[in-house]
Amino acid sequence: MFERRYFIVAQNFHGTTLLSKLLNDHPAVVSLGDTYPSNRLDQICGCGEPVSSCRFWNAVADDVGSERYRACSHLLPDYPRIVGGGGDRVLYNFLRPGMLSRLIPGVDRKTFARDFEAFEASVHKHGGRPEATVFVDGVKSISRVYALMAAGVRVDGVIHLYRDPGDYIKSTMKQKGNSWRVLLQQLVMYRLFHRLARRTAAWVPYRSVTYEGLADDPVGTLNVLFRFLRVTPKPVAELVLHKREEPWHFMGNASLFGFDGTIRRRRYELSASERRMTRLLAGRYDWEKIHLASRP
Ligand SMILES: [Zn+2]
Repeated sequence: MFERRYFIVAQNFHGTTLLSKLLNDHPAVVSLGDTYPSNRLDQICGCGEPVSSCRFWNAVADDVGSERYRACSHLLPDYPRIVGGGGDRVLYNFLRPGMLSRLIPGVDRKTFARDFEAFEASVHKHGGRPEATVFVDGVKSISRVYALMAAGVRVDGVIHLYRDPGDYIKSTMKQKGNSWRVLLQQLVMYRLFHRLARRTAAWVPYRSVTYEGLADDPVGTLNVLFRFLRVTPKPVAELVLHKREEPWHFMGNASLFGFDGTIRRRRYELSASERRMTRLLAGRYDWEKIHLASRP
């Protein structure tokens, strides 16, 4: 079993797969990219196989009994149902863990905790890394962290990953469409998400890092994170060169398949009006100030 568990909270396009990769290269840490495998499509696992024929994910799916959740979008649900649909999103975003635990029926809390613990144990058992002591979960969802706390699962810490809102919004628009509607909607979501993510510091050990900091100073950033995870800091070069027998069964950004340790920061040009709108809606973004901020 792992001795400690940490959770990355971030939005899409924030570099979670990259962060997960760098942490996973540490001999004491296991991290599997930025999501549970999808039930809707057969994703390609980091080992190169589709999830349906990946030995690792098949073993994990069997151990957790994931066939119970075929109707969900992922291998396991993000949180137990309270009222269903959008109502649950609101409840999980705005209520504190203590209130959630009074709202979620006891039997559902137990099932949720048991499923997560079975998942974690299975990852440890089949991951080919018996010496690893720390699990860094990259599913990213804040609601899920609250649901686990409400279910009585110990959370050893939250890593909150930020990215420059201008670069974030441009990456998002490449996928969702280049329109003002997408830009405004996503900027508001960005602001809400990061406010909620910062709030986790009220309940659990918390550390924020930025994608920009990770790209500009990977060594310094990782050392701080390794200390946060209470493992011995190691230089990035040594980590990346360290080759393992077992492939990394990650979910997420496929551009990391051939990762050689070079981090290229994606920068985008914004028009003057896009820049104004980003500043107005996403708030000021001073990554050096946000980077490595922590609260007890
Ligand atoms: Zn695999």
